[in-house]
Amino acid sequence: MTKIYPQLDIPNTLAAGPGPGNTDPRVLERFAASGVADHMQKDVLRGMIEAKEMLRELWGTKNVYTYGVAGTGFSGLDCVLSLILPGDKVVAFPNGTFSGIDSLTIRMKASTAEELAADSLNPKPKSVTIVETPHGKSVTGEIVEKALAAAKPMWAFMAHWETGSGRVNDLKGFNDACLKHGVMGIVDAVSSLGVGDFNIDDYPGVVAWASCPQKGVLSLPLTYAPVSFTDKAIEMVKKRGCRTYVNHPILDARHWGIIDGKDVPTPAYHQTHSCYAVAAFHEALRIILGYGRRRKATDYVYHEKALRQAVEAMGCEVTSNMPSLVVCNLPGKLRGKEKDLVANARAQGFGIWPTLSEPVQVRIGILNQLSPEQIGEIVSRFADAMLAMGAEFDKQKVMNGLKSYYAKAA
Ligand SMILES: *Cc1c(COP(=O)(O)O)cnc(C)c1O
Repeated sequence: MTKIYPQLDIPNTLAAGPGPGNTDPRVLERFAASGVADHMQKDVLRGMIEAKEMLRELWGTKNVYTYGVAGTGFSGLDCVLSLILPGDKVVAFPNGTFSGIDSLTIRMKASTAEELAADSLNPKPKSVTIVETPHGKSVTGEIVEKALAAAKPMWAFMAHWETGSGRVNDLKGFNDACLKHGVMGIVDAVSSLGVGDFNIDDYPGVVAWASCPQKGVLSLPLTYAPVSFTDKAIEMVKKRGCRTYVNHPILDARHWGIIDGKDVPTPAYHQTHSCYAVAAFHEALRIILGYGRRRKATDYVYHEKALRQAVEAMGCEVTSNMPSLVVCNLPGKLRGKEKDLVANARAQGFGIWPTLSEPVQVRIGILNQLSPEQIGEIVSRFADAMLAMGAEFDKQKVMNGLKSYYAKAA
């Protein structure tokens, strides 16, 4: 007998974690309102070319090889990390869950066949040096400088903002050390693009960047992971090749109208792109650019401060310094109950997160929640979750504190 399940209904939740963020209704509207059109239809191709140009604007770069890789953040990271070939000397600077996974990808890509076979799911190639910075701490320019001076690698890798621990790393220090030691930098900018105010072209030591659709860019309906490569990175790929077809930095770019290092008006087929995804991604970029990158960055900093003060008033200790995310330890009495608190909140449609690697902490995010009302809702729901677990504080006092923060600022 064939089993056919009932129609799948998914409720609306408040995404108050590190990502995905709450997709703008305008993005969903463009997704749903697109006609059926194939991946070579002229408006789909025009949309991809316009999205590529808006992406360069958002990311502050003249890099021709700037476009979207179909999929999630790790799809874009797979594309940029495919620059690394077996035996390449790499130094990676993880400081939390995601840069830890990126470092695993790097170890897989840099392994020789023998090194990969020796421990295929967790290889430890001789050519890769992993410089760990503890969870809750930022990677500093000094750490990078010292390691690059000692190892003299071909590549260096760092996350711009490590979402696992909520830490901003020293991009300028990383860039300067790469330039000084003639190293090609690769950066995971998954959680900073669309939240922070920075220009790729101010960091020439970084030759490849990867981001994602669903954090600052706010285009979850499975769309595109932005990537950007300098000409130097593309020259390396041309000369040495890389071991992927679908995420190939040069071949993938063809469908975005980037061929032989130049923008061309007629893209070439690479894979079947979705007209729905193109329309959604295009709208998401229009929204951020319309809002203004600098204004958005300022708003994130302003509202993160409000949330931070409110959770501190509930007795939590904040260890993060990221503008879109608060990572905190619960007050003494609730220690060890982080996962229960998060599970209870999620059961009520309030999507906060624990950390995904040790130590266990709570993560509360504000992606696309940039108003006093929306922050008030997050604070109120978090307060309820805390009180339900037995925390002791006066919720009214916390809410009043939040109100006076906004009153003072206004
Ligand atoms: C979220 C995140 C990723 C992974 O992105 P996916 O969209 O889940 O593939 C990688 N790196 C960082 C820094 C992230 O925040």
